[in-house]
Amino acid sequence: MNQKFDVIIIGAGPAGSIAAAKLDKEGYSVAVIEKLEFPRFVIGESLLPHCMDHLDELGLLDCIVEQKFQVKTGVTFYHNEERCEFLFKNKFTNGWDYTYQVKRADFDFALIKEVEKRGVYVEFNAEVTAVEASKEKQVVTYLNKAGEEKVLTSRFIIDASGYGRVLPRLFNLDKPAPSIPRGAIFSHVKDENRTTQAAENIFVHAFNDNTAWIWAIPFSDKTTSVGVVGQVDLIKEYGENEGEKFKNFIRNFPGLTSRFQDTEFLFEPRDILNYSVSIEKFYGDGFILCGNSTEFLDPIFSSGVTLAISSGHQAAKLVCEHLKGNEVNWERDYVEHMNFGINVFRTYVNSWYNGDLPTIFFTKQDNTDFKKQICSVLAGYVWDKENPFVKKHSTIVSTLAKVIRINESEVNLAE
Ligand SMILES: Cc1cc2nc3c(=O)[nH]c(=O)nc-3n(C[C@H](O)[C@H](O)[C@H](O)COP(=O)(O)OP(=O)(O)OC[C@H]3O[C@@H](n4cnc5c(N)ncnc54)[C@H](O)[C@@H]3O)c2cc1C
Repeated sequence: MNQKFDVIIIGAGPAGSIAAAKLDKEGYSVAVIEKLEFPRFVIGESLLPHCMDHLDELGLLDCIVEQKFQVKTGVTFYHNEERCEFLFKNKFTNGWDYTYQVKRADFDFALIKEVEKRGVYVEFNAEVTAVEASKEKQVVTYLNKAGEEKVLTSRFIIDASGYGRVLPRLFNLDKPAPSIPRGAIFSHVKDENRTTQAAENIFVHAFNDNTAWIWAIPFSDKTTSVGVVGQVDLIKEYGENEGEKFKNFIRNFPGLTSRFQDTEFLFEPRDILNYSVSIEKFYGDGFILCGNSTEFLDPIFSSGVTLAISSGHQAAKLVCEHLKGNEVNWERDYVEHMNFGINVFRTYVNSWYNGDLPTIFFTKQDNTDFKKQICSVLAGYVWDKENPFVKKHSTIVSTLAKVIRINESEVNLAE
């Protein structure tokens, strides 16, 4: 094996695969070093339409289409007796009207296998343990499948290690996330009785005064991912006695009983706590971070994989420029660019939990035009500055919620 590569990528999740595909397309030699054997389980199964733009641009759609994943055309939110459906075909921004709900083991494996087929060097069961980064040369040390220590060098490193957070840990880049610590508990269940419409829309239902919510994300093999997100104490309680409370909750949840009352859980519920993370800096001499190794907000709007893919693609584009010897404005073209999209989602996540978005979603007032623009955000088009719900995200959501509340209280007074 050639020990020297143009770029070493740590992690073979979506962020790593997309970055590898871009660099390979531009003619650079790439090694992807992945800790686990693939296919491997990871949570995060509902994609957003915008990720299709990146997959398409890099010629990665065919390998995904071949997998016959469940098509996703929208998302339906519920709260008490209220229902609010977003269909991506009704969104404001031009772009994809659908995407997929995927078992990540299969999705991630399909991507990295395609990248490997194109000539990228991929090593599984290889855990990166040390990294030296500088302007001149990068050195990556890892333990291979046989437990031997190996060393690779490169001109640049991309950290796409997700929850492993390799460079944030090694270089002390972690920063506490500003949000309330939350967790999730989840499993997969059999789901033979669902309708076609239920299969194509993911189900999100708020409960406990909007501090918690349940998801159902159907897959094409008539199984479904189910989970609950909430504050850490609630998730711990649902996880006790091998997830007994969680299982009962899923089986008896109003609106889902016809599907899940007698369902079989395909693996014991797993939990993940305090998953929100943030970062001091996104790049440094000879390295850049992308995907979940940077920032992870919250799963409510299924933004994780789309942000991982967008950041992996953007990071790789800039690394290509750097390797060509061109000056790169990392701050403007990476940090500010990524933070713009992340901050749009941050507004929507915060507005979900503080009640502003539920006010907008579940109002009886006509919200058709707003819904189109919000739908674009929910489809992942968070860089479309033509959309007022993107451009003015920091004020428009709270202002609209206030107006709706005032109108509703006037209607109540009039009655
Ligand atoms: C409860 C919950 C629900 C979620 N639901 C959704 C959803 O519906 N839709 C969505 O889009 N996102 C969702 N997410 C987010 C999603 O899981 C992540 O955003 C996404 O997996 C990030 O992809 P990535 O490529 O950055 O990292 P990952 O997919 O985590 O891949 C990183 C890879 O790096 C490898 N690695 C780690 N350490 C090392 C090391 N030392 N050496 C070598 N390799 C290493 C890992 O083994 C892994 O394969 C959810 C997250 C949570 C917590």
